[in-house]
Amino acid sequence: MDFSPTEEQRIAIDSFRRFLEAEIAPAVAEHGDAFIPKDDMRELLVKLLPFGMGNGLIDQAHGGLGLSPLTVGLLFEELARVSPDLAIVALIQMEAGLLLSAGSESIQADYLAPLLRGERFACIGISEPGAGSNIAEISSRARRDGDGYLITGEKQWISSGHYSDFCICVARDEDGPGDGFGLFIVDREAGYESRNIPKMALNRQSTAQLHFDRAKVPADNLLAPPGEGLRRLMTLLAGSRPLVGLLAVGVARAALDHSIEYAKSRQQHGKVIARHQLVQARIAQMAVQIDAARLMLYRALDLTGRGEHANLESSMAKHFATEAACEVTRHALAIHGGNGVAREFPVEELYRVAPILSVTEGTPEMQQLIIGRSLLGESAF
Ligand SMILES: Cc1cc2nc3c(=O)[nH]c(=O)nc-3n(C[C@H](O)[C@H](O)[C@H](O)COP(=O)(O)OP(=O)(O)OC[C@H]3O[C@@H](n4cnc5c(N)ncnc54)[C@H](O)[C@@H]3O)c2cc1C
Repeated sequence: MDFSPTEEQRIAIDSFRRFLEAEIAPAVAEHGDAFIPKDDMRELLVKLLPFGMGNGLIDQAHGGLGLSPLTVGLLFEELARVSPDLAIVALIQMEAGLLLSAGSESIQADYLAPLLRGERFACIGISEPGAGSNIAEISSRARRDGDGYLITGEKQWISSGHYSDFCICVARDEDGPGDGFGLFIVDREAGYESRNIPKMALNRQSTAQLHFDRAKVPADNLLAPPGEGLRRLMTLLAGSRPLVGLLAVGVARAALDHSIEYAKSRQQHGKVIARHQLVQARIAQMAVQIDAARLMLYRALDLTGRGEHANLESSMAKHFATEAACEVTRHALAIHGGNGVAREFPVEELYRVAPILSVTEGTPEMQQLIIGRSLLGESAF
């Protein structure tokens, strides 16, 4: 197993890094920690598309760049290091693109193509006020209405929800086959409302609550028929979990970089703190955690790229990486002493970002249950 970047990947990473520092970091900084308005977010997203952020995993036949999961992961980690907020927006666009590329020709023309040009924002509405870890408890309803459906329900914690021009919504047709869960493309114009939810961090982008009241879905907008929806989602989430892990690695790497810089300049007891052994121990622990997380995540992406089943490896890697980011950012705070909790220093924000990443796309407990089920052959959900 060799996950070291190829020459081509190395060149792509280096040029993306330079681009991020020159163009993206200053543009994001202009907004401070305020919400980035939709038009500005679109402009940023369009700039990221040539680097496969938002479109990298979608194959070329469908208008994406068709990069390998590992290449996308390597680039995505760089974006997350500079702006986890933008990384989330790009990730949601990419996940939506993957779902849409399995849709009909009209879905590809009306939704996938504009999404890949950065013209339309998507969101994916799974979670609800009463259904998070157990998506089988989703209560949004899809009622037949002629050829199409009417969707009624509440969605909660929906990334890009406030930006979204359309939502890929999970709802249940009680008269449908199997469990009745389908994937329905609901246009904003068909009548859903969104309310942004302020969080402890990651407020430059949108996490929203969506309200659907008999929102019309024409027959053409049925992305997965009732009974098929959850299976499609599970496949999607297993593939994207390593990317959430790499989001956490990007955050942890930023914390390590700031800590190294700080430790080399801050003087205490007559020398820079980098020369105190216990400070070095923290730096070493941070680096070990980051490296281990990266290797696990790269392995999961590599397996996925080779078409192998990587559910276990993806959950292990996502779980380890997001927990590691919490520990790494805690060490970063400690290394910065009082300055660690000051708003002027970037590590306090990274410390607030890390725990959010543990929750998204499956909490640590859900990852443990997936791992346990895979090893024991028994479900403990
Ligand atoms: C920033 C952010 C972005 C998000 N983006 C999206 C999005 O784009 N689309 C979307 O649909 N959702 C999104 N989510 C929702 C996310 O997937 C859920 O928050 C997550 O799945 C947890 O669900 P919950 O919040 O309802 O917690 P709950 O399911 O209520 O869990 C609460 C606690 O109970 C534990 N728990 C639950 N069941 C068990 C069990 N069987 N055994 C042991 N412990 C258990 C959990 O691990 C957790 O610690 C986002 C969330 C956040 C915070």
